[in-house]
Amino acid sequence: MIKTAIHNAENYADLRFSFSWEDERKNLDGLPGRAGLNMVHEAVDRHADGALCDHVALRWIRGDRAARDFTYHDLKVLSSQFANVLTALGISKGDTVFTLLGRVPELYITALGTLRKTAVYCPLFSVFGPEPVFQRLSKGKAKILVTTLEQYEKKIKGIVGMLPDLKHVLITDINLDLDDLVLSLPFLMNKMSGVFQIPPTSLEDPALLHFTSGTTGMPKGALHVHGAVLMHYVTGKYVLDFQPDDIFWCTADPGWVTGTSYGILAPLVNGVTNVVDEEEFDAARWYSILEEQKVTTWYTSPTAIRRLMRLNVKPREQYNLERLRLILSVGEPLHAEAVRWGEQTFGIPILDNWWQTETGGIMIANFPSLEVKPGSMGKPLPGIEAAIAEVTPDGIRMIAEPNVSGNLVLKKGWPSMFRTYLNEEERYQKCFRGEWYVTGDLARRDEEGYFWFVGRADDIIKTSGHMVGPFEVEKSLMSHHSVAEAAVIGKPDPLIGEMVKAFVVLKPGEDASAELRLDIMAHARKTLGPAVAPKEIAFVDSLPKTKSGKTLRRLLKARELGLPEGDLSTLEK
Ligand code: ATP
Ligand code: MG
Repeated sequence: MIKTAIHNAENYADLRFSFSWEDERKNLDGLPGRAGLNMVHEAVDRHADGALCDHVALRWIRGDRAARDFTYHDLKVLSSQFANVLTALGISKGDTVFTLLGRVPELYITALGTLRKTAVYCPLFSVFGPEPVFQRLSKGKAKILVTTLEQYEKKIKGIVGMLPDLKHVLITDINLDLDDLVLSLPFLMNKMSGVFQIPPTSLEDPALLHFTSGTTGMPKGALHVHGAVLMHYVTGKYVLDFQPDDIFWCTADPGWVTGTSYGILAPLVNGVTNVVDEEEFDAARWYSILEEQKVTTWYTSPTAIRRLMRLNVKPREQYNLERLRLILSVGEPLHAEAVRWGEQTFGIPILDNWWQTETGGIMIANFPSLEVKPGSMGKPLPGIEAAIAEVTPDGIRMIAEPNVSGNLVLKKGWPSMFRTYLNEEERYQKCFRGEWYVTGDLARRDEEGYFWFVGRADDIIKTSGHMVGPFEVEKSLMSHHSVAEAAVIGKPDPLIGEMVKAFVVLKPGEDASAELRLDIMAHARKTLGPAVAPKEIAFVDSLPKTKSGKTLRRLLKARELGLPEGDLSTLEK
């Protein structure tokens, strides 16, 4: 076990015992003179109106690595101007405003300005093609879309006629309007005052619409409310362990919930500096950003970590990373080897944490002050009750014994719980059994209360009477010295129900020979036993992933079985 320094969540057990949402709520302001809570007041205005007025809130790093700073005051003025733009265009509370943008300042200003106006903000990945863009704009009844001229011409022009709710498209990089529908954002912004009083906002007012990653099927639109900001504050404080002069970098795109909850809100609510990089993954660039920006806290994904691990670079020898004190990961299982790699490479273990689009914020985490058990997701946040249960279509039975796999469930009522799946209320209701939200993931809890990811309920393989989680098998395959990545599916088999089939990406320089295949199989048999070890292994160059970096096992399976490939809107091309 590896122990890290002690910080905000100094004593987990005490904190869990004494924690109350009401007490934490006192650390937020609420709207001045009025009841209610607005995300942008907490994230921006209370700092802009106080001691952090000139503190850098957002540091935007352009493609050429030049940085542009926005203080809390700047964000207040710019987001007020955008809120005034919305008013001028007839947008009301609850209307939806979308962005189809890369990680550029306009995205952040739109997000904050929309929340200020009490409209609902929905970010889309800029790499989506016309069809997924249309699906989401139409499902979300978009009233306003903010995008670039290039994106407009490629993806929007041809579909505006099919979007009856769309009032305007605001283009970030033209200075004159194209027509009555397509307007210049800079032109509008320049005309607007930088003062906008936030209207009354209740805890339950809708704030954010986020589409899920589409790993298991068609993406669902999860709706979140302004009250969720309390979760962003609390998780920022205890998991990201924010300290006043922190420089935080979340590598996720806001098109994925991590890029909004933690790429925008949590750092701002906690008054730290939030670094945003416009570019995609590039190892040398990333290490240079960590060094140049003196990043203290870095939140990234297992996919990115695996890519860095493969490179064999020794960053601490080449870069000055002495300010980096916390590395965190979310989105997929983080293997024990990756945690240890962090320890060897950066001198700190990588802290895995678990949550979903639906939960709106981190639910289970490795805390800087707790022992890290490499490979575990950690322990539930204070204020969060997580349990393992057997779930049937109409009932639930809690599993108290440790180390038994079951459904991971969460007790309802945390501030950032989603409030519905857009236009799919019935599906939303089906996620609950009484007081419990059923996450769709399987996990187990050990004697010490640490949670271990087993797999997604949809991915579980039933073979020869065993229930096999693909993650266990993938973990074993990846512990073979020649394997870089692996994904496992169940393939229907008349004799044993389903047969375990593995897709393996080899490390650079490894030869995809028949001997190596046998060697990997033997290794898996030895660690897993013959019933669970894969019976077939295919060598592949890469695994299909979502844009948020998750392995699309359902696509591997569909291709293997010659079935329709399903929704591919989130597939990383
Ligand atoms: P969809 O619901 O559309 O199939 P998705 O579940 O991948 O897509 P997200 O909400 O982005 O969409 O991802 C949440 C899921 O990611 C979790 O339910 C879990 O399966 C996985 N996940 C997140 N963090 C971790 C983690 N630390 N360890 C293991 N799995 C994780
Ligand atoms: Mg999901």
